[in-house]
Amino acid sequence: MGGKYVITRRVLMGAGVKATFLLPLSLYAGLLEAATLSPKTPPRALPRRLVMLDPGHGGKDPGAIGVSGTYEKHVALATAFELKRQLESSGRYQVLLTRSRDVFIPLEHRVELADRHRAMLFVSMHADALSDHRVRGASVYTFAPHASDALTRELAQRENSADRYGGLQGHFSPEVAEILASLIQRETRIGSIEMARSVVDAFSVNTIPLLTHPTRHAGFVVLKAADIPSVLVEMGFMSNPRDEADLRRPQHRMRVAAAMKRAVDTYFALADRGFHSIG
Ligand SMILES: [Zn+2]
Repeated sequence: MGGKYVITRRVLMGAGVKATFLLPLSLYAGLLEAATLSPKTPPRALPRRLVMLDPGHGGKDPGAIGVSGTYEKHVALATAFELKRQLESSGRYQVLLTRSRDVFIPLEHRVELADRHRAMLFVSMHADALSDHRVRGASVYTFAPHASDALTRELAQRENSADRYGGLQGHFSPEVAEILASLIQRETRIGSIEMARSVVDAFSVNTIPLLTHPTRHAGFVVLKAADIPSVLVEMGFMSNPRDEADLRRPQHRMRVAAAMKRAVDTYFALADRGFHSIG
């Protein structure tokens, strides 16, 4: 039986080298068995990406309070739990939350948590209020020293003012904000922008209402991790009765979480290819 051979082909990943081997069948079967049965060679686990979700506000800081009394902090936490469940059930992600209870955590501590755990992506989840109650729809924010528009400036002021509850200095002078921004690596900025785009695309695919010009930027304290791509998602506005009613419904939060999971999948697929689409 020694005359039977099996042709195997091995592709050396990265180097693009292909090699063909001629192996005696008995040896090949032995190798297969060794590869599949030996306790010394367990199947290589796929690397799990660590995603840090940041449900906004909490504890003494309720966030925005909706027209019918819904607290933003509760909507943010409920949606974060749902997104964590969906991401983890795919088996591809490890998900940590900056808070998993109704507790107050200063903005700076949220960023520190992501840094300490070496998160690969940071997603802050909110549903704020605007003075114009007609404005509705989801939007996504990345860090920049200057707000892209008046609406975004209003939001960033509200979000950053969460630190007034904790007595931390949450406000930076324009100079300091500029320095902080320059510390952010180009890669991180590109990653953040790609994630913001992915979220907007996924919301649009899942027919979740979006704000006009849904991708914006401002000096959100919670987005200033120097080397972790970070976005802040406003899943809708508590100040708009329709958005508030939507976000109170578990089915709607499930759809929002599904869109965000789709965005995370897209983000990592693009990251694996090195974000070549961006100049
Ligand atoms: Zn908020």
